[in-house]
Parts: sequence; structure tokens; C-alpha cells
Amino acid sequence: MGAATKRRKAFLAQHSMCAFCGGGSPATTVEHCPPRALFQDRQWPEGFEFPSCEPCNLGTDDQDLVVAMLARMDPFEEKGDRDGKLVGLMKAVNRQKPDLFRKMLPSAAQARQRNRELGIVPGPGQTHQEVAGVSVPEEFHNAVCTLGRKLAKGVFYRETGRVFPTDGCLLLNWFTNTDLVRHGKYPMFELLKDIGGDAPPVQRGATYLGDQFEYKLTFSPDTNLLALQARFGNAFGLVVFGSCVPSLLESIVDRLRTKTGKDGPFAVLHSPTLPHFDASSGA
Ligand SMILES: [Zn+2]
Repeated sequence: MGAATKRRKAFLAQHSMCAFCGGGSPATTVEHCPPRALFQDRQWPEGFEFPSCEPCNLGTDDQDLVVAMLARMDPFEEKGDRDGKLVGLMKAVNRQKPDLFRKMLPSAAQARQRNRELGIVPGPGQTHQEVAGVSVPEEFHNAVCTLGRKLAKGVFYRETGRVFPTDGCLLLNWFTNTDLVRHGKYPMFELLKDIGGDAPPVQRGATYLGDQFEYKLTFSPDTNLLALQARFGNAFGLVVFGSCVPSLLESIVDRLRTKTGKDGPFAVLHSPTLPHFDASSGA
């Protein structure tokens, strides 16, 4: 038996139930979240391995690829491709979702409007489309929803020793680097910066990986409420609010819905009662 297999068996002996589907399924695989492909030079952080049943692990493979590609987009420092893996990743995504790259390109009108909003002026001989940021198709949203859901359930399990319950609720808000360009910061993180929490260093051995992924985790004293803030390089950020208390967050979304006719700024990642995002739809 190889060392990796031994390690995996020992991990699963200690963590026998899937952390992602409510505690009903035995774990047979180890899921890395954030996905390993997101990190440069095969250096992914320690402590982000979670017990998973096979359907929960393998069912998100294509979304893992999309999110790894998305997280490596760095318009500021171009640090997303230090290991030269980005093109291979893009090809793999293109094989699975042949339409995605076309959808990422804004139309000329969209590009012009976006550039005007952001104060971007094309240089001589450049078109608006050439200098505009990419659009965010639904596939990106779905992949980030899957990432947010797994990450929140994973760290909840790791920190509390409990599997996130099936009658709990998870809500997500995420934002792309357009906010960084527009405001020089992520307004959502500013809003939450004064709530306490842990922001442990993300590292593998002596290597710090915070330039690719960093996070802050806040729990209520009884650990029934959580807020997870995560930032992926210069590409995007997300916030997940979670509750193990049935119908608590749902009532907030219900109120928003009554008031505005919309779900508010939140995507529902998990809820026994609210219609929610379904990773298995494969969209
Ligand atoms: Zn599962």
C-alpha cells in the first residue's frame, strides 16, 4: 500500500461520514476544497481535505475546473499562471463546456458601457471589447455556488466536528474583481470587517498561499451560525452565511422577497424549504 493510500485510509477511518450531504452517507473519498487545480505549482493548503461520499465528490468535477480557472484570473499582477497551467485548464474547461468562452466575451455595446462605468479608455487601435473585462456567465455563478457550499460545509465540519445538518441553511453573496477595479476594495468585506473571527494563515509546510486563497471564519458562541469570507487572489471573493437553526435565515430571505420581489443579494446554497441552487442540474 502506498503512503498516499495509507494516509487516505487513516483519514477516512477518523472521518467516516460525508461532510457534504447531511451525515447520511459514509465517506469513501477525500475531497479537496478549494480544488487543488486552483493552486499554483501543486501546492495546495493543508487542512482543506474533507471526507466525502463518491457522488458529492465526483459530481462537481467540471465545476471544480471552472472555479480553478476563474480563480487564476488576475488582471492586476498576472500572477494566476506562474506555473504555466492556465492554458491546459482552459482547454479542459473548453472540452467540457464548449460554449463558455463565447459567453465570456461581452458584446461591443456591453463592453463600451462597462468601460465607461470603470473609466477604461481603449488605447490607439484598440476596441472596447479588447480591453473590457469578461462577462460572468451562469456557469461561473454555479461553479462559485458549488465552491461556497462545499467550503462552508467543510470548514463547519472541521471546526465543530459536526456535519452541516440537512435542515440548515446556507446563503452566498459573491463578487468579481470588477468591484476591486471600481472601488479598490470589496465593499462586502468592508461591511463585515468589524465582526470578530479567525483568519488563519493558509499554508502548506512553510509556503504561504494567501495570495491565492485567504479566508475569515466567524461563529456564534453556540456554533449554530457562521459567516465565511473568502478571497481568491485578485479574481473574486465570496461570503457565505450559514445557520443550523431551521428557518432562521429563510425568514430573512422571505422578508427580502416580500419587500423587493427578489431573493436579495443572496444565492440560496442549501435550504430544506427555499428553492435553491442545484449543482446536479449541471448548468
Ligand atoms: Zn455526500
